[in-house]
Amino acid sequence: MKKIEFFRHSIDERDIERLGNVLRSIFLTTGAEVEEFEKLFARYLGTSHAVGVTSCTAALHLSLIALGVGPGDEVITTPMSFCATSNAIIHAGAEPVFVDVEEETGNINAELIEQAITRKTKAIIPVHLYGQMCDMKRIHEIARQYNLRIIEDAAHAIESERDGIRVGQLADTACFSFYATKNITSGEGGAITTSEGSLAEQLRMLRLHGIDRGAADRYTRKYQHWDMPLLGWKYNMDNIQAALLIGQIERIEELWNKRDHLWQLYEQELGGIKGIRILTTLPGVKHARHLFTVLVPAGRRDRILWRLQERNIGVAVNYRPIHLLKYYRESFGYREGVFPVAEEIGRRTISLPLYPSLREEEVLYIVRVLKEELGATTG
Ligand SMILES: *Cc1c(COP(=O)(O)O)cnc(C)c1O
Repeated sequence: MKKIEFFRHSIDERDIERLGNVLRSIFLTTGAEVEEFEKLFARYLGTSHAVGVTSCTAALHLSLIALGVGPGDEVITTPMSFCATSNAIIHAGAEPVFVDVEEETGNINAELIEQAITRKTKAIIPVHLYGQMCDMKRIHEIARQYNLRIIEDAAHAIESERDGIRVGQLADTACFSFYATKNITSGEGGAITTSEGSLAEQLRMLRLHGIDRGAADRYTRKYQHWDMPLLGWKYNMDNIQAALLIGQIERIEELWNKRDHLWQLYEQELGGIKGIRILTTLPGVKHARHLFTVLVPAGRRDRILWRLQERNIGVAVNYRPIHLLKYYRESFGYREGVFPVAEEIGRRTISLPLYPSLREEEVLYIVRVLKEELGATTG
């Protein structure tokens, strides 16, 4: 069996054609394609504004800045995420405060949030792990009660819904990633959505140094002096990235359907196998089907991980919890044992290939190898 890649993107000939048109034009940076992408993306998510940026990390950072989070503030988030989530909090000058996750889903445990709130708490960043939306109704209630901002890290969850609520709808902003292995991708890229016009305006300035005119203004109209009312960053999405994303948004449900089908096949084939646990998709949730993970016995995880790779299957680990990474241990004094549920997932989890062009035979091969390796390591 030839190598089964961990991920393959779904950029097609029409996307390449649209990209070619941008490259043959004179205008490469933030302009018409970015605007078209932003309109499509906001419409898909059922919100009013989308702001294209260069990464989800940038989206999180700018959201925190725009919402006034900075030095002396604390932001509650989950240790079961990519380190970008909490790094952005540190970049904003604030301190991440972790709360353990639910055993069933790996998402932040909303019932543990209140006890982590202090007078310094300014915001909550829930992460919709693997594509399953957190309990946003409960988190929204808590945020209202304590006057906290909500920034959703929706890097896994563009397509997700829970009880009829889409990502971003119960938050100040939601942040998205178009990194190379995400559900839709431009290699690198990101976006912020919000329903508030004035916040969107501020984010648009903050993504380009805090100046009040974009390059497209200077290109399409006569030169006008610009001013810089705010100190911003250099995080603006360009037309090259946007050109790749437009078609993928148009095909987003078609791509989701293919992943959903493969996910069901994995669940059906792996259900009830001794030594494997699959996280639960809760009732009322439309899962974005971003990462398919299995939990295997902790002591055997690494061996199984190496064996899958030896047998030509691409794998990943999402995630070893953030608080146990060297920088976090050393800067904040975290030790093993403080977030036991996240740590348990971190010791047991393996992510398997999941993408629209993955074939059913490949899923069946992966399942067979996984069963063999589980059996082999039991004895
Ligand atoms: C990928 C990812 C990010 C970071 O996205 P970038 O676009 O690479 O900055 C943040 N949070 C989560 C949960 C992610 O998976």
